[in-house]
Amino acid sequence: MPMTRRGLLEGMAKLGGAGAVYETLAVWEFLQAPPALAASFELPAASGTGKTVAILGAGVSGLCAAYELDRAGYDCVILEAQRRAGGRSLTLRRGDTFQEMNQPAQTVDFDEGLWLNAGPGRIPHSHVNVIDYCRRFGVALQPFIFASRANLVHSNTLGNGRTVPVREAFYSLQGHVAELLDKCIDRGGLDLPVTGTDVEKLHDMLVQFGDLTKVDTPGKAPSWSYQNQSGRAGIATPAGVATPIKPIGPMKLEEILRSRVWSDWILRDADAYWQTSLMEPVGGMDNFAKGFLRQPLARRAGTIDGLIRYGAKVTNIDVASDKVTVAFEDGGSARTIAADYCVSTIPLPVFAKLKTNLPAPYLSAAANAQTTAAGKVGWQAERFWERDANIYGGISWTTDTIDQIWYPSSGYLSPKGTLTGAYMRGRNAIEFNVKPVAERLRIAREQGERLHLGYERYVERGVAIGWENMEFQLGGWVNEDAATFGDNSKVLAEPQGRFHMAGDQITFLSGWQEGAVLAAQYAVTGIDRQARAR
Ligand SMILES: Cc1cc2nc3c(=O)[nH]c(=O)nc-3n(C[C@H](O)[C@H](O)[C@H](O)COP(=O)(O)OP(=O)(O)OC[C@H]3O[C@@H](n4cnc5c(N)ncnc54)[C@H](O)[C@@H]3O)c2cc1C
Repeated sequence: MPMTRRGLLEGMAKLGGAGAVYETLAVWEFLQAPPALAASFELPAASGTGKTVAILGAGVSGLCAAYELDRAGYDCVILEAQRRAGGRSLTLRRGDTFQEMNQPAQTVDFDEGLWLNAGPGRIPHSHVNVIDYCRRFGVALQPFIFASRANLVHSNTLGNGRTVPVREAFYSLQGHVAELLDKCIDRGGLDLPVTGTDVEKLHDMLVQFGDLTKVDTPGKAPSWSYQNQSGRAGIATPAGVATPIKPIGPMKLEEILRSRVWSDWILRDADAYWQTSLMEPVGGMDNFAKGFLRQPLARRAGTIDGLIRYGAKVTNIDVASDKVTVAFEDGGSARTIAADYCVSTIPLPVFAKLKTNLPAPYLSAAANAQTTAAGKVGWQAERFWERDANIYGGISWTTDTIDQIWYPSSGYLSPKGTLTGAYMRGRNAIEFNVKPVAERLRIAREQGERLHLGYERYVERGVAIGWENMEFQLGGWVNEDAATFGDNSKVLAEPQGRFHMAGDQITFLSGWQEGAVLAAQYAVTGIDRQARAR
């Protein structure tokens, strides 16, 4: 098949990330600086004076809606079913308790000062709206290390179930692909997208890109092959006094191909939202939601937190031409409130079960939303990954059910840290999360041992959360890859009179706090338009 310019760039992006694409484009001299993404949102001041809004749910989306509406003069109340704010943005610390449906409550027993993000864990640098609120609220961010080449990858089809450092699989694959491509351009007769001296530049770039070694054979033109000459794929003997490093031999191409580690794991940091840099709030992701909670109200004493009615479980929404009435249970008592407008951020699987007078097509869009199951396991442990494997942050990958092990991006060299000992989505999560907590922990220990020798002994005080088992979530997030998502979200994003939907669930950033914030801004803009028109 002829190699096209686009095909080559896509290959470069997968293997070498943005850097390799930049190099390739720079060679062709058509790199334009991308426009900077920026965020800044504000409703017109005082446009909501005298108007009331009931906000359903105190996750990131509900909190963002309340903050923006309050600044614009609206009087808000937030009804939150749980006794805490933040929704899925849940950070677990010593003494915290949570409970899945049909499972005993789990109380977190980590050492003081340790924390684990049970929901969101990272903020991509392109999520400018989330970052903008962090800036405004003084939420300190630190790098979240998504990928370290020292991380491990385990494949049940790699050798006999082998674990290797990511660098070994990644750079060996990159080297082999560069070698193959170089042979193709050398042979001629191909419909190359570049000609003349650019072909030479392409060759030079491939030598650099793939760490190719020149092979001189008497009587023949030199060729280039991948031999891990520089040691980027791994070092057998480190440099010492008067002794150079001795690189390991590269992994064989067929071994990498059979392992399937390229189908997801080792190339994951090339995906748009996983590219360096990612960030996380210092001390836990819930510090982002807490940033909203502590903001002072614009026109009276108190904070956004003071607008929340905790333990208020919404049961019924009635939308009339002049108001929205919301019924909720509060400590066993049935209550109602009426407001001029309503924003619901209640997760769709929960929302779909509420009683409402919303039109049938709207309710079927809510009921038809496909939810992705998601689950995590968390551990406390002495930092064996630093001591034994030189791992300082990042994620190790496995073809086993646990899928991933995350290492902390902070607290290096301190005695203990927390590990995310499993992070599953979709079918894996469904099968895993249906098991009792103790069984999940047992499996996570056993599968972790295949990545780190001694793992089973080191990890302790485990917790497991399956988000579809949580009463007020019933899922990880709405699946924006589902074929029906686009049509459904269009319906759900349409205001129903005075009723507006928000939450990450109506955006193509579902499963991201950026989506939760964008949806909140969208809903409050819709309310403000209606309020000013009236
Ligand atoms: C495992 C996992 C990993 C994730 N990773 C990331 C990540 O790395 N980065 C990232 O940015 N995002 C990530 N996300 C997504 C992120 O958590 C969400 O996008 C965001 O938290 C959604 O906020 P929300 O306000 O829209 O919804 P939610 O946080 O779900 O808030 C909804 C609120 O409604 C309340 N509620 C429910 N029912 C009722 C009722 N009947 N009455 C009253 N209140 C009710 C709930 O208690 C909850 O507080 C992850 C999510 C999960 C589950």
